[in-house]
Amino acid sequence: MELTYLCPHCRGALNAKRNIILAARCVKDKENKGLVLLHEELGNYTVAMSSTLQAETGDEFDFNCPICHSSLNSPQGEALASIVQIANGEESNIVMSRIFGERCTFQIDDKKKVRSYGESVSKFVDPDWFL
Ligand SMILES: [Zn+2]
Repeated sequence: MELTYLCPHCRGALNAKRNIILAARCVKDKENKGLVLLHEELGNYTVAMSSTLQAETGDEFDFNCPICHSSLNSPQGEALASIVQIANGEESNIVMSRIFGERCTFQIDDKKKVRSYGESVSKFVDPDWFL
């Protein structure tokens, strides 16, 4: 399936060669920054990082669009980020954890139907806040 991920601000495509590429900066250490490559298949938590970025389980990162530099952090205040997915012409919002090692991804389609991925998803018992 052809997947395209877009920045919700500039609508620039964030994925190439099956990776979603985001600019990341550690919340507690602003010098710890670089590019993070997430697998474009939802629920696949294979991650690659550029050499200037180090991540340990539990570290929180701010994500920015590498094209327009807008923040991708979700406005709800939870440690989440959101981007847009286009699959077979259907647009949905992808909401993911910004905590390294927390495997938690939500897909919300245009009918507000929610699908969840990852074993940390049960942390969010009531996902109504992002609808
Ligand atoms: Zn952008």
